[in-house]
Amino acid sequence: MFELIKTAKNHRGRVGKLHTNHGIINTPAFMPVGTQGSVKAVTVDMLHDINTQIILGNTYHLSLRPGVDLIKEFGGLHRFINWNKPILTDSGGYQVFSLKGLRKVDNDGVTFQSHLDGSKVRFTPEGVVDLQLGFNSDILMPLDICTPYPAEKLQVAVDMAITAKWETRQRDHWEKHRDKGNLLFGIIQGGMHADLREESAKDITALDFPGYAIGGLSVGESADIMSEMTAITTAFMPEDKPRYLMGVGLPENMRAAIEAGIDMFDCVAPTRLARHGQFFASEHQRSNISNEQFKTDQRPLVESCQCMTCQHYSRAYIRHLFKAKEMLAATLLSVHNLAFLIHLVDEIRNDILNQ
Ligand SMILES: [Zn+2]
Repeated sequence: MFELIKTAKNHRGRVGKLHTNHGIINTPAFMPVGTQGSVKAVTVDMLHDINTQIILGNTYHLSLRPGVDLIKEFGGLHRFINWNKPILTDSGGYQVFSLKGLRKVDNDGVTFQSHLDGSKVRFTPEGVVDLQLGFNSDILMPLDICTPYPAEKLQVAVDMAITAKWETRQRDHWEKHRDKGNLLFGIIQGGMHADLREESAKDITALDFPGYAIGGLSVGESADIMSEMTAITTAFMPEDKPRYLMGVGLPENMRAAIEAGIDMFDCVAPTRLARHGQFFASEHQRSNISNEQFKTDQRPLVESCQCMTCQHYSRAYIRHLFKAKEMLAATLLSVHNLAFLIHLVDEIRNDILNQ
């Protein structure tokens, strides 16, 4: 259930509360990604420490390994990974459609080869909902077709039509389990075409999901096109449901998306960049800790940052760790990058509340 608390006066940004089985998410919210049931290099205590409200898991990866049966034996993903706040699981559609190997789509689902051992795996719309109910995810995402970018408009339209049929089936299947309180979101596609975005938004929102995601963006298009498509799509999304922009979460993209009416974000970039030595220095600037200029620098990564890394460690020390290939470098940089994004979104949320 989504409570809209306030809408900004000078843009389309909103503040809300999304109620889930494992607590309330204050929106707008940034969601760290924990593909394999772990936000890479970061412990659950560290996630709590930086006020993480919700994390992501991935159905494709978790269903192949360790498998839904083991997770069910633990009563769900929360206990298995020791995370007691909300979890959103992505359907795995994105992974299936980015696989290099054999893949066959038909009206009833997709058959593909596991990247682990090459074995044949089949995902159906209903089956993907069942997997996520097995994880006991708070928010479930439907199986959809992620059209590569760039693509012919006809291909985008064909994939969108199949996705809409699959989402109808997934909505119907989820309805039978609705009383358990797990929330299934709809995903709006349409590539970089305004008319297809509008059509998809109308078709999917007619299915009356508890929330809606915008898929198929942040796939290689320019930031301007991404912003334009986001704003076009949110215009056709209902006010009283949460809006999730999938795969977007660099500091420089957050403000525009929130001002277009987005409530939720996820992105692997903060932790992936950290593993490559990069840290967020400001909303519009990234630095690399390996730079010579940080060699003797006793200051924290960002002087105003309240995160554990910036409270206790210097740039010179983190640079030394990174150069020495110590694992702690990835941990310290990941904590900072995640904290930076979460704090940025908190600030924007407070600005809207204080308008
Ligand atoms: Zn920091």
